[in-house]
Amino acid sequence: MFPINLLDLIDPKKCYALVRQLRWGGIVTCPKCGSNHVVKRGFDEVQSDRQRYQCKHCHARFDDLSGTIFALTSSAFGSMDYSFVTS
Ligand SMILES: [Zn+2]
Repeated sequence: MFPINLLDLIDPKKCYALVRQLRWGGIVTCPKCGSNHVVKRGFDEVQSDRQRYQCKHCHARFDDLSGTIFALTSSAFGSMDYSFVTS
């Protein structure tokens, strides 16, 4: 059986677009206070397709993966890929 690198199969840009669609559904909400008064704050330095945001209500900063199981690692989708290859 050949190890399969998911990153070779899935375009990270499309993957994050899907995450945004599934998570936010068009309305980004602050995971800390629940406000939808949120502004975009550029992209992650390492994962250039990972959108960052800042809440205008409580000033909390978060990104597409904050508050999800993928936020526990610095290489979110890389970790998922690693688990798949080694299991
Ligand atoms: Zn907030």
